[in-house]
Amino acid sequence: MKVKKAKELNTDINVDVVIVGAGAGGLSAALAASEQTSSVLVLERNETPLGNTSLSAGLIPAAGTQLQKEKGIVDSAEIFAQDLIKKAKNQNDEKVVKAIAQASGATIDWLVNEKGLALHCIDDFTYPGHSVCRMHGPKSQSGMDLQHMLLNAVEKAGVDLLTEATVEHLYVDEEQHIVGVDFYRPDGSFEQVGCNTLILACNGFGANTALVEKYIPEMRDAEYCGFELSAGHALEWGLALDASLADLGAYQGHASVSVTHKALLTWAVIAQGGIQVNADAKRFSNEMNGYSEQASLVLKQPNQQVWNIYDERCEQSALHFQEYRDLKDAGAIKEAESIEQLSEITGLSLSALKQTLEELKLYTDKPDVFGRVFAEPMLKAPYRAALVTAGLFHTQGGLEVNTEARVLKKDKTPFANLFAIGGAARGLSGAEASGYLSGNGLLSAVVLGRIAGQVAAGQCVRTYQ
Ligand SMILES: Cc1cc2nc3c(=O)[nH]c(=O)nc-3n(C[C@H](O)[C@H](O)[C@H](O)COP(=O)(O)OP(=O)(O)OC[C@H]3O[C@@H](n4cnc5c(N)ncnc54)[C@H](O)[C@@H]3O)c2cc1C
Repeated sequence: MKVKKAKELNTDINVDVVIVGAGAGGLSAALAASEQTSSVLVLERNETPLGNTSLSAGLIPAAGTQLQKEKGIVDSAEIFAQDLIKKAKNQNDEKVVKAIAQASGATIDWLVNEKGLALHCIDDFTYPGHSVCRMHGPKSQSGMDLQHMLLNAVEKAGVDLLTEATVEHLYVDEEQHIVGVDFYRPDGSFEQVGCNTLILACNGFGANTALVEKYIPEMRDAEYCGFELSAGHALEWGLALDASLADLGAYQGHASVSVTHKALLTWAVIAQGGIQVNADAKRFSNEMNGYSEQASLVLKQPNQQVWNIYDERCEQSALHFQEYRDLKDAGAIKEAESIEQLSEITGLSLSALKQTLEELKLYTDKPDVFGRVFAEPMLKAPYRAALVTAGLFHTQGGLEVNTEARVLKKDKTPFANLFAIGGAARGLSGAEASGYLSGNGLLSAVVLGRIAGQVAAGQCVRTYQ
């Protein structure tokens, strides 16, 4: 992935807005850009546009949406921004956070009312770190459904989307304007296209083991659960352009990946009162700090595996997730009628398990040693148990951007026509895994994507006037 000189671009084809990557970010940007110009081209490396988005739970946090209002949920961009800043311990870019929080509600309303996406707002539990219920997604809570809805909308909008087109080089002039790109086809041929603006929506570097080893060594042993083509191309172009890169050690980890089925077991079971115990049947952290930072703690436990222990009540919210139901059907979730049976099926010591569950009763009105308060009713039979490990879902560091999604140079001035969104851009989580607030991935893809599409297309249209 390199940068070439502008004079090496040799094509008559020129497009207003070229977008690299057809995940939630690229498709949102395309939808927004197509409202102002018909000259939009999405280039996607895969045969089918899937991306990390299709592997996700498809949940996008947003504040002040119509869907929230219909359910009586009171929220605002200010409260949302505060939650994002608090979770990242003030390490994220406050201006970008506020701009995204501000645009989030209108973006979900736009997707629902103008682009025909059937989204709903989850209101039966609040994800750790969010002040109120603000997760929006398909009823199935499946990223594949979100991706299909976006693809349908893009098709209706008449946007050109080319698959099996791996963008390799950016062509750059002396003023650091991006004048075009080239892309390779599976048969080895390559084509060039000129562009007035370029949006990088090709996600981060989670699938690139060398880059993970370099920037996120604590997760080198984690199960990689993201998309195989998140190879770090945006990062490589950023390096070649000498762009400002930030928070490369940040990521979305997850502490609940089924060992047997290598799939996400939703954190809802923990948020509703479930716990994680190690091979000694001991808890080792405040699970409610968040699933992302919990991931590296799981990797420090014996065999890098732990048990999610919860009960039938905790399971109710999880049953809304298609992926959870699939795991259940596949036998990844064990059921026990008593503590004795729980000990038998997990192989955990009965006395240690009894002690751990008994101890929880002490912490319903005061924090335990890890700082967790159990506001929920105590766990009781019938129990559920699942053996899980930690996963790396996607990287959060990337090209630094401003409130218009414009990529910044090292001196913090923006490139004139280069944008980055979603996993390609610096995320909203600050420098560490603990800064990841649930939904930060799709928030940056979809909301910053819409902003990038609007600004890039607006810039092109202005030049014609
Ligand atoms: C199991 C799991 C659950 C998750 N759940 C959630 C959730 O509920 N909410 C949330 O906010 N986040 C979630 N995430 C994170 C979320 O999936 C990502 O943050 C988000 O999908 C990123 O979107 P994107 O558009 O930036 O990238 P992607 O969806 O990965 O799209 C990028 C596209 O770019 C293409 N591409 C890459 N390089 C090139 C190239 N050189 N040329 C052309 N195309 C290229 C790729 O093939 C890919 O299709 C989850 C992740 C996982 C793994």
